[in-house]
Amino acid sequence: MFEKILIANRGEIALRIQRAFRELNIKTVAVHSEADADAKYVRLADESVCIGPAPSAQSYLNIPAIISAAEVTDAQAIHPGYGFLSENADFAERVEKSGFVFIGPRPDTIRLMGDKVSAKNAMKRAGVPCVPGYDEALPDSPAEIVKIVRSIGYPVIIKAAGGGGGRGMRVVHTEAALLNAVTMTRTEAQAAFGNPTVYVEKYLENPRHIEIQVLADEHGNAVHLGERDCSMQRRHQKIIEEAPAFGLPLRLRNKIGERCADACRKIGYRGAGTFEFLYENDEFYFIEMNTRVQVEHPVTEMITGIDIVQEQIRIAAGERMRFRQRDIQFRGHAIECRVNAEHPFKLTPSPGRITAYHTPGGPGIRVDSHVYHNYFVPPHYDSMIGKVIAYGDTREQAFARMSSALSEMVVEGIDTNIPLHRQLLQDAAFIRGGVSIHYLEQKLAAMAANE
Ligand code: ADP
Repeated sequence: MFEKILIANRGEIALRIQRAFRELNIKTVAVHSEADADAKYVRLADESVCIGPAPSAQSYLNIPAIISAAEVTDAQAIHPGYGFLSENADFAERVEKSGFVFIGPRPDTIRLMGDKVSAKNAMKRAGVPCVPGYDEALPDSPAEIVKIVRSIGYPVIIKAAGGGGGRGMRVVHTEAALLNAVTMTRTEAQAAFGNPTVYVEKYLENPRHIEIQVLADEHGNAVHLGERDCSMQRRHQKIIEEAPAFGLPLRLRNKIGERCADACRKIGYRGAGTFEFLYENDEFYFIEMNTRVQVEHPVTEMITGIDIVQEQIRIAAGERMRFRQRDIQFRGHAIECRVNAEHPFKLTPSPGRITAYHTPGGPGIRVDSHVYHNYFVPPHYDSMIGKVIAYGDTREQAFARMSSALSEMVVEGIDTNIPLHRQLLQDAAFIRGGVSIHYLEQKLAAMAANE
């Protein structure tokens, strides 16, 4: 097992990973930008290294600075967290070439899954059902594009092959809007991801977002840890997740879970990963794979009792997984609310100083957050400041505990989306279960219209 690992990330996930290390008696190196120098988790780490100024491009995305931090501190491995360099195959390769272990899949796997066109093709070959569409990147010829999309049928969604974070996507309802949408998505994709390649798939009108968590070791063992429902989204970004997914027949869960575990074995996957699907009329359609730990991993941890971050570390150390599929038991229900520093309804970011902070507690409540009273939320990064997770024996109990937790929680000095979460926990359709990925956008639009 490793003695010292560097965490190439910030915020709540840097703290979450640090906690996993501490339990395993592994020393931690925190790297941080100038803006995060005073963060509590940086002080809690055994060692810390400043890797550059506040903007991520000069710090959390600065590969040479991170590698030198690992060198000067004698860390043996690097955990990339999520976001930043976590799905950057060149980074994973540089880490391994410099003699460190990258806590994640092999660089070639990251590369394969990082291009959504090659990912979909690989999954199709491995027997995973995909969203209908065109299997290749869109060609340049306008006439050919029109022909391809006619064969799929409107509406379609144009997506960036290198996209992520809910960006680089455009829905097209009519042929008249098609070519302009393709050009605009290409331009955006080039600017945001340095890759103008776009592809097209059928736009599903009423799906849920259901994803499967997997773990695979380098000895050919792979298991799935069940599903999460992440349909509550705005701007293609998740804000509430739950496990298991409401009303999903056990038979379907086991079948799709097995398919994913099997795909891991076929592509020689290593580490933790997530297969994301859209789910409509009892059918699953693969959209992409995330080759890293996800923000919403805690809901799966709550219902399986498995610490996903610790398993990532064990797998990276070359260990064999200690459990098989039949050993994995699903118990109870868990829900997570992402707390963002933003206006609850207008969604505008709200960085600044937190002047009062009280976290909830009680049975089944977990709060994963790096913030505290008097913490300054820097304007440079993602607006998420933490996550509240509630577990219960039943869905009803998990929801009741979450409502109670949100009523106790106090964050003052900045805007947060806690008032939105409080409302959603009272929302009849959400309580009933099974809302689609468009539900929250529609609700927010209706609320804005009624103002
Ligand atoms: P990203 O990598 O940016 O997260 P995804 O491919 O995972 O992009 O898609 C993010 C979200 O966009 C999905 O959860 C869903 O809400 C929406 N979406 C993506 N593809 C489709 C589709 N074919 N039909 C309808 N919605 C889609």
